[in-house]
Amino acid sequence: ITTLAGKKVALFGLGGSGFATARALKLGGAEVTAWDDNPDSVSKAAAEGIRTVDLRSIDWSAQSLFVLSPGVPLTHPKPHWTVDLARAAGVDIVGDVELFVRERRAHAPGCPFIAITGTNGKSTTTALIAHILTSSGRDTQLGGNIGTAVLTLDPPKDGRFYVVECSSYQIDLAPTLNPSAGILLNLTPDHLDRHGTMQHYADIKERLVAGSDVAVIGVDDSHCEMIADRIERAGGKVTRISRRHALPYGIYAEGTKLIEASGGATKSIADLEGIQTLRGGHNAQNAAAAVAACLAVGVSEEEIRAGLTSFPGLKHRMQPVGCRGNVVFVNDSKATNADAAAPALSSYDRIYWIAGGLPKAGGITSLTGFFPRIAKAYLIGEAAAEFAATLGEAVPYEISGTLERAVAHAAADADKDESGPLAVMLSPACASFDQYKNFEVRGDAFVSHVAALDEITMLID
Ligand code: ADP
Repeated sequence: ITTLAGKKVALFGLGGSGFATARALKLGGAEVTAWDDNPDSVSKAAAEGIRTVDLRSIDWSAQSLFVLSPGVPLTHPKPHWTVDLARAAGVDIVGDVELFVRERRAHAPGCPFIAITGTNGKSTTTALIAHILTSSGRDTQLGGNIGTAVLTLDPPKDGRFYVVECSSYQIDLAPTLNPSAGILLNLTPDHLDRHGTMQHYADIKERLVAGSDVAVIGVDDSHCEMIADRIERAGGKVTRISRRHALPYGIYAEGTKLIEASGGATKSIADLEGIQTLRGGHNAQNAAAAVAACLAVGVSEEEIRAGLTSFPGLKHRMQPVGCRGNVVFVNDSKATNADAAAPALSSYDRIYWIAGGLPKAGGITSLTGFFPRIAKAYLIGEAAAEFAATLGEAVPYEISGTLERAVAHAAADADKDESGPLAVMLSPACASFDQYKNFEVRGDAFVSHVAALDEITMLID
């Protein structure tokens, strides 16, 4: 970052993105003073040559800017103590995305920048867009909430594309966020612990699309619908998307087809039929958003279709990892509660379902509507007995205990089932901590058990 060269900058939060930001500021010649409540993070930063001082004892009036890590409370339940100090001194508070935005504006204001937010589907949509851009040969940088901190990416230059997933926290700390295309996928109650009311949460997310040259908005929920109307009334350019109904203008899904409508005319842009990594209505929403954003930054329909078809999917999120005969093996380890398992269960018609782990409140009682799709359940971990009780007479099940046994038994049972396309799916509706370090390790274990099956064709590297 060069826009703060020679300036004093205070920074709080030395986790992944905070640390990257401190380093980027220092490299760009800013006089950065950083701190964290965690002494280990402070020592790690100090070892890198970053100046670390308790921010209670600095001269706040001399600071040009205060950089706060996402997730550190700005308002709710109450402001972090550093926020109070910065406000008392009249110092602006920003996050790393804002620093990126300023850098882009200073050095390459024309470089295409797609920002993505919403309650669900952010990472999938972000990865899909980056894949479409990369596979069409464009210089593409992918980051933000999805992984790489934005300030660790290659710096903005003309012709370079940025695809950045933004959490509400990051938007809240990016007052001049102005993407070329901004996506708001959907809005459902989530993270209200940090943001207070749904309205406040919606207001924050609205800022991302309100500041965009083109606002791509999923209009299948009432909050987003109102936001789209509001931006349009204010003169903004909006592309509406829907997975549920036809639109007069915008991009909508009709079954697996994505249709572009402009007044009277409609045109089929792509068909998701047969694209294993984009199954299900929720992915139609993600794909429609990706299509709209890619069109907005000048990607051709042909390039978009090619990218959709070759999308490898995201690890641990309903990812088809192997197949054998009419059986596809699906890793949905990220589904750590019942709500998160619902999209996967709705996306396949006949499922050999591996579930269980450390159960969450409510268990799988909200999933009874999907029980007719489940050929048999294979229960693992601490939740097994509770889940068995919920399945009761409605679904055949076994208590497999371990994931390894569950995969072996489910694969053997599915092998004998001649009834058409089948899925053996890990979509555990549970946390992993009783048996695994985290959901990634659990998903990797699933993949290795699948890879060990006889005559399996793996679909991932
Ligand atoms: P996020 O980054 O917003 O957490 P992901 O793309 O990582 O979302 O997807 C996480 C899970 O959320 C997926 O496995 C799927 O179950 C569900 N999901 C994905 N896209 C959507 C969507 N558009 N609407 C509702 N649920 C979705």
